[in-house]
Amino acid sequence: MQLMNYINGNFCPQTSGKWITNLNPATGEEICKVPISNSKDVKEAINSAKNAYPNWSKYTPHERAIWLDKIADKLEEMFEEIAQLESMDTGKPISLSRNVDANRSVANFRFFSELIRGMEIEEFEMKDATNYVIQKPNGIGALITPWNLPLYLLSWKVAPAIGMGNTVVCKPSELTPMTADLLMRAVDEIGLPAGVINLVHGNGIETGSLLVEDSDIDFVSFTGGTVTGSKVASSAASTFKKLSLELGGKNSSIVFADCDFEKTIAGVVRSGFLNQGQICLCGSRIFIEEEIYEDFKNRLINAVEEMKIGDPLDEETDLGALISKEHLSKIEYYANLAIEEGGTLLTGGVPCLPKAFENGNWMAPIIVEGLSPESRCSKEEIFGPMVTLHIFKEESELIKMVNNTRYGLAGSIWTKDLDKGRRLSESIETGMIWINTWLHRDLRVPFGGVKDSGVGREGGKWSLGFFSEAMNVCVKHE
Ligand code: NDP
Repeated sequence: MQLMNYINGNFCPQTSGKWITNLNPATGEEICKVPISNSKDVKEAINSAKNAYPNWSKYTPHERAIWLDKIADKLEEMFEEIAQLESMDTGKPISLSRNVDANRSVANFRFFSELIRGMEIEEFEMKDATNYVIQKPNGIGALITPWNLPLYLLSWKVAPAIGMGNTVVCKPSELTPMTADLLMRAVDEIGLPAGVINLVHGNGIETGSLLVEDSDIDFVSFTGGTVTGSKVASSAASTFKKLSLELGGKNSSIVFADCDFEKTIAGVVRSGFLNQGQICLCGSRIFIEEEIYEDFKNRLINAVEEMKIGDPLDEETDLGALISKEHLSKIEYYANLAIEEGGTLLTGGVPCLPKAFENGNWMAPIIVEGLSPESRCSKEEIFGPMVTLHIFKEESELIKMVNNTRYGLAGSIWTKDLDKGRRLSESIETGMIWINTWLHRDLRVPFGGVKDSGVGREGGKWSLGFFSEAMNVCVKHE
């Protein structure tokens, strides 16, 4: 199977003649060939978006919201296909693909449809004049997404971007292109006006950078690693493109002695290892109050070892495969580094699986103790099934340890003392904190990080703000 780009309402072959082989992470078998789009393909996609822009940007928000609902309806029909493709492409358990990926992809379109329908023009009265604030589209956008939550994150950008009247060119990760292709089939089947959404496949170095650099691109919404984000920011800077960067994280889970033990164990395990720890929000450094450290650690190890690792398509599976051989090597590198840095691996390693999975990328969850909070393993983003445990005694010492990383995306605090939880949240340098829960998402709230975890906010009205330009019209009274 060879994937095609989607440009101006048509599936078109690429012109470079170069391909990437997309492999199933669980088995190592080939799924499809992914085109590496070149400058001609990218330019055609941008031109298609440019041609569609004048008409699409004149649609009313209500008319555009109707299209978002049509996309949501179509994706709902394709729900099981989304889950199956996502599971095959990423190696994640099918239960997760259904409950998180497929569900949220539909929900993103529905949510932004409703939000856009409800938009109101803000007015500010002066003694002698009235100000109106109009939200105009930015223009032509590049939407670049990573491999861990492929359609979930793409739909999170596409829905508000086109909902606000922009037209876009999408570039999904070369490692997980299948559900982006499905989204193009969905918009094709419902007859969305040609050129509103275009897609070019390819790798980041060639296709992605060509897209970001192009002078006809007005804005870039990028989710991915911090190093790539920095390159994207540099190439966008020379033409002052509007930029939203959702980048890496190294998030803390803070466990106080007064927590609800059972719920906290379940929450910390989920936060550490959901999607094999490959979620930017995962809590990979766990700070445990001294008096419960040993007990909590032992219960955590038991809970992690009870998780079922294996066939992503088995309904009972808790943990699937890692995205690629390179990523598996990265996790192995950090596991070895943890030992070099003085840590002890309490559990984890290569699991024993049936022959069908011998060429897949497998790693059972790793828990490390005994590392300094200053160690590389405790501060760098690993983005896989590996967590480090740390002991704390005092709140002031805890705050210093939690803030000693270049990242600032998310975190969770586990305590029955909600005043303490709220007070501590405010001292943590991060964009998001959950108290006694994790990844409990309300789509209306701001999403994004501080420090090296990103620039800007998306989510709810913040997405509408990023995907539009606020314009002030001041009318002098008679
Ligand atoms: P990458 O940064 O490697 O890639 C992200 C996307 O950017 C991919 O589509 C990639 O293409 C593309 N890309 C790579 N180089 C360039 C370039 N020079 N110009 C333009 N585009 C480029 O991230 P991963 O895909 O490895 O995803 C994992 C990272 O994403 C982690 O750091 C994680 O924390 C972060 N992330 C952040 C989230 C957040 O909301 N803050 C959410 C989810 C993930 P290709 O892969 O085809 O080369």
